[in-house]
Amino acid sequence: MVQITCKNLSLGYEGKTVTQNINFSVNCGDYLCIVGENGSGKSTLIKLIMRIYEPESGEILINGRNIKEYSLRSLRSAFGVCFQQISQYSVSLSESVSIGDVSRPTDEAKVKEALNTVNLSELDAMLDKQLTKRFEEDGIELSGGQWQRLALARAFYGDHKMLILDEPTSALDPIAEDMVFKSFRRLCDGHGGIMISHHLSGVMSVDYIMVLEGGRLIESGSHEELLKLNGHYAMLYNIQAEKFKKGMAEDEK
Ligand code: ADP
Repeated sequence: MVQITCKNLSLGYEGKTVTQNINFSVNCGDYLCIVGENGSGKSTLIKLIMRIYEPESGEILINGRNIKEYSLRSLRSAFGVCFQQISQYSVSLSESVSIGDVSRPTDEAKVKEALNTVNLSELDAMLDKQLTKRFEEDGIELSGGQWQRLALARAFYGDHKMLILDEPTSALDPIAEDMVFKSFRRLCDGHGGIMISHHLSGVMSVDYIMVLEGGRLIESGSHEELLKLNGHYAMLYNIQAEKFKKGMAEDEK
């Protein structure tokens, strides 16, 4: 079980404050979700936890120890992460997944397992094939959704203590999205995980939700607690629910 604590955490880019005085403590055996509008500081918070950025003030503790006390290697290898910007590497399909854990030689059985988890088993027979046609004429070109699922397979490959997914379903259709939410939940069992998502339909079943606005943590709790609070989360949720209802009504016409 990993416990993450942020104390008075702040960071700015180019003189503009992005993450302001954030305080929380979470047990990551739980399944957490960070929500908020674009630019509210969600990805920055994850990058601070992984020490991709250093805070301007405040500190982050993992299991009671400041993250600076861990080697960068041990800190980062604890997390299986899928960031928003997906890299389309021109390497073999198998390498593209196994770079999720460079501490060990590629394990083909685990590569296949990770592909299966993200519903890409149709690529099992092509593990040695080069991705993209940049260097090989017969390289495989993937669709946007397949690239996104491949990036997820990379995060799921390896024995990480915790999974972090940043907007993992933006290029996926609703069926693939549902599959990702379910796989993530299953893979988080006993590990813990953090998901950043705009799609609040997939957020409802998480254990704990943190709502960021303008770099501040403004609300936190379960879906039901946040709806009762009738604040920012409830407003975002109702906008999405309204859109969904309108879409259903148009479809019925
Ligand atoms: P979110 O994930 O909630 O969409 P981000 O954490 O990515 O938000 O960004 C928060 C703010 O910080 C945004 O205004 C964004 O433009 C800015 N920002 C993010 N990364 C950088 C960077 N490397 N340099 C300068 N500004 C950045």
